[in-house]
Amino acid sequence: MKKLVLASSNAGKLREIQAILAPLGCEVLTQAELGIADADEPHLTFIENALAKARHAAGRSGLPALADDSGVCVIALGGEPGVQSARYAGDATGREQRDARNNAKLVAALAACADRRAYYYCAMVLVRHAADAQPLIGEGYWWGEIRDEARGHNGFGYDPHFYVPDLGRTAAELDPEQKNRLSHRGQALRQLVEKLRNFP
Ligand code: IMP
Repeated sequence: MKKLVLASSNAGKLREIQAILAPLGCEVLTQAELGIADADEPHLTFIENALAKARHAAGRSGLPALADDSGVCVIALGGEPGVQSARYAGDATGREQRDARNNAKLVAALAACADRRAYYYCAMVLVRHAADAQPLIGEGYWWGEIRDEARGHNGFGYDPHFYVPDLGRTAAELDPEQKNRLSHRGQALRQLVEKLRNFP
């Protein structure tokens, strides 16, 4: 594959995905560079949303398109915010503002709760064209726990509150390479790239 479009406008995600794709030597464009607006994400599952985003970008660009849909799933909250992670505390304008409100809502929801287990999940989908009947799908899970205290300035979204016990750090305290080696997004993308190797 010589060229593909990334169907996201989330700068944090784009940085992580571009770093993993860099060694593949294919030209990676973002949908924003091509003037393509974000697709709606109306579905109940991560995979359906990722597929909708990828088809939307492939249809408008005429290029293969890669999309992820991801979120944090908290055990004590029955898997919430899950597929609603980006909009957990509403649709505030500006990503930083939205992240801050999401994090405050999550910490408040867990105030009386000792069980802090949570995992990040990512569905990564590649369509070679808008009507592709065999999208390639990768999935990844990254386990940790939600801490009240925010720590670290790397990453994005829930990372300052997502603590990884094995490392004794939050995801926001990891350097970008380390996060990509471990994260749900890194796992999902590497799985997908492995499947892609079977295609000419
Ligand atoms: P969506 O995939 O565009 O629906 O958004 C996923 C949302 O899940 C992000 O806006 C974040 O709030 C959260 N999320 C997904 N992956 C990560 C991550 O690696 N770190 C922190 N938050 C994440």
